[in-house]
Amino acid sequence: MFLRWSYLPKLLPWLIRYLKNANASDTKRIAESIAGVTLDSLSEHQEIANGTGAEKWIAPSDYLYLYRDRSAFEADSFGWNIRAAHGLKWQELEDDAFKDYDPVFSPDIGFAVCMPDHGCITDPGQYVKDLAAHVERQGGGIIKAEAEDIVIENGNVTGVRASGETITCDDAVIATGVWSGPLARKLGVNVPLESERGYHVELWDPSFMPKTPVMIASGKFVATPMDGRLRLAGVVELGGLDAPPSREPFDLLLRHALAAMPGLTWARKTEWMGHRPATADSIPVIGAIPNAKGAYTAFGHHHIGLTAGPKTGRMLSQIITGANPNLDLSAYSPARFMR
Ligand SMILES: Cc1cc2nc3c(=O)[nH]c(=O)nc-3n(C[C@H](O)[C@H](O)[C@H](O)COP(=O)(O)OP(=O)(O)OC[C@H]3O[C@@H](n4cnc5c(N)ncnc54)[C@H](O)[C@@H]3O)c2cc1C
Repeated sequence: MFLRWSYLPKLLPWLIRYLKNANASDTKRIAESIAGVTLDSLSEHQEIANGTGAEKWIAPSDYLYLYRDRSAFEADSFGWNIRAAHGLKWQELEDDAFKDYDPVFSPDIGFAVCMPDHGCITDPGQYVKDLAAHVERQGGGIIKAEAEDIVIENGNVTGVRASGETITCDDAVIATGVWSGPLARKLGVNVPLESERGYHVELWDPSFMPKTPVMIASGKFVATPMDGRLRLAGVVELGGLDAPPSREPFDLLLRHALAAMPGLTWARKTEWMGHRPATADSIPVIGAIPNAKGAYTAFGHHHIGLTAGPKTGRMLSQIITGANPNLDLSAYSPARFMR
């Protein structure tokens, strides 16, 4: 984890609330909510993408956590006990069993946890573009503009102010990631929201790739085989929205990747930093805003926005249309930030 010290004074109010949740019982409570939007992710993605042109980017696969040895895995038992309590199944691959599974890794990695029934999106940008194209083909309209406010008349949403104009509507969802704070605040929802800055290095035309996505536990980042490139992504840097990317996290990703996959070469690399929208209680803010009929939130998905996107959309559409979501949604409600 990285911290830009100059940002600490601004960060403190969020950090204090965040750290209050950094204990065993709150972590278990938070995991319960995260499980609700992630555990059926593969089937939710398949369902939303089926027949849209986006389905070709979904690659069902195992997902592995890699450790130096069994004792390093056991040192992580707190998290694994929570996963087991939520029904996650895995197979433990030690030494030769792991080498037989995937021989591309350094002999220093002697233990892997292999979880079946996972998957990855081999080109997330194109996946979302293909879904958007499908929406347009079905008659949906996409307007690109900067939303400034949600217009409320007599307690009901009547429009969205965007780039100086008002777009009339009955329902509006605030889903602007880490930038959602000011829009939500105007409707009384005061979410402590920060950017967990994350880093990507994409290695194009690599000499080899792992056969599945792997979490390299020593560096806490994921190496994912994608369309034409190997993506290394992870790291948390607290430092706000405005500062340019730091150099060190990119170097750290590459260093750990080369240690895990010695001899890896590539034709070219791209690097970028992104903003994960992190609520202080680590639970996304999904649901209806009390006192503003027709206004909803769907943001705060920190590290799991792609994973939990389709489920979030389904939950929200059920809330908006009054269908029974068959799930207790109170933990996600924006009302928790209105007291
Ligand atoms: C390095 C890294 C690796 C990650 N890996 C994974 C992963 O493997 N799996 C996973 O599930 N998640 C991953 N994530 C997290 C995931 O990217 C986020 O959770 C997700 O992007 C959040 O989605 P969002 O739509 O809420 O916000 P965003 O993706 O940030 O989108 C918000 C959009 O709103 C727009 N916007 C902002 N303000 C306005 C406004 N006023 N008017 C109009 N538009 C506006 C922004 O321009 C932006 O396009 C990763 C993130 C990073 C940084």
